[in-house]
Amino acid sequence: MSATIEKTAILAKYLDLDQRGAVIAEYVWIDGTGNIRSKGRTLPRKINSLDELPEWNFDGSSTGQAPGHDSDIYLKPVAFYPDPFRKGDNILVLAECWNNDGTPNKFNHRHEAAKLFEAHKDADIWFGLEQEYTLFDENDQVYGWPKGGYPAPQGPYYCGVGTGKVYARDMIEAHYRACLFANLRISGINAEVMPSQWEFQVGPCTGISMGDELWMARYLLSRVAEEFGVKISLHPKPLKGDWNGAGCHTNVSTKEMRLPGGMKYIDDAIDKLSKRHVEHIKLYGADNDLRLTGRHETASATTFSSGVANRGASVRIPRSVAKEGYGYFEDRRPASNIDPYLVTGIICETVCGAIDSADMTKEFERESS
Ligand code: ADP
Ligand code: MN
Ligand code: MN
Ligand code: MN
Repeated sequence: MSATIEKTAILAKYLDLDQRGAVIAEYVWIDGTGNIRSKGRTLPRKINSLDELPEWNFDGSSTGQAPGHDSDIYLKPVAFYPDPFRKGDNILVLAECWNNDGTPNKFNHRHEAAKLFEAHKDADIWFGLEQEYTLFDENDQVYGWPKGGYPAPQGPYYCGVGTGKVYARDMIEAHYRACLFANLRISGINAEVMPSQWEFQVGPCTGISMGDELWMARYLLSRVAEEFGVKISLHPKPLKGDWNGAGCHTNVSTKEMRLPGGMKYIDDAIDKLSKRHVEHIKLYGADNDLRLTGRHETASATTFSSGVANRGASVRIPRSVAKEGYGYFEDRRPASNIDPYLVTGIICETVCGAIDSADMTKEFERESS
């Protein structure tokens, strides 16, 4: 530990050095397995708008995104945020991945989803995502759990307070602050039902920015966790047995739903969702069938259900929304490991209507092509 402190003190000397007007842009992208990669580059001056950011590239054969004989993948900037690690005018740049032949890379689901949101701009669709995740230590044991054993059964841990009831609060706090600094719309955090499982919420965000902000919040989580020697798992059922799985509940509203009388539009949306259950489930995360068992506050993976205040349904209408007669609904099916572009994209397609130039169901097939 003391060696770590000494190293930090040495590093601090260099972090204070003047950058002579240059800024560091850390380009962040999604690789071929749903993990995040990033690399940094120097830009001559402070960046004020997206169009000032250059396109860049990387070796896609090293990330499972391209064959070795045609390995260049292009990084097209789509959003940038203040960098909480380097601070100053340094930034984090979220980039879409494009192939050499001008087509979107097979894991670039943002491009297709963005077309849907553009076509349905007038619906003004908002999302709020509840990202659940689980902490592991460097030896792949659940973080803080007794060596070779289990903690007491679930009960005291959800929103828990006190030694033995909550784990890694310091790391979670660091992530929360980093998200706020980066201008992400993080709306809250809570400890989850399974010890060492946590949740943060991002939203409400409009259209395509929902996926952007969630991916960036995940990036910050992995970076912060790296400093604490913690591994982040987004697996929907990290432990077998009587331990809760991890989801990414997706809260949704259109302009019409948010106005008095909006319940009519919420009911209409749920009716449309009920008819495309199978198509949606395909895009709602790998191994999600291990989580959607009908137990542990989930519904069955094979049948659609909905209800007011029902946390055992596929889709829940919050009690307060039913009372007021307008607001939003919660799709509880998506797993913690979703690509939010796929999920928000198909919800837009189903609720607001399909368009000729985009088909979210094909996105899944494209991934395995
Ligand atoms: P839960 O009770 O399911 O745990 P949370 O408080 O964790 O709910 O999350 C609720 C989410 O709903 C928040 O992320 C919030 O941003 C989002 N939300 C609130 N209002 C709307 C709305 N009108 N449209 C879409 N999302 C919304
Ligand atoms: Mn929640
Ligand atoms: Mn939760
Ligand atoms: Mn929820």
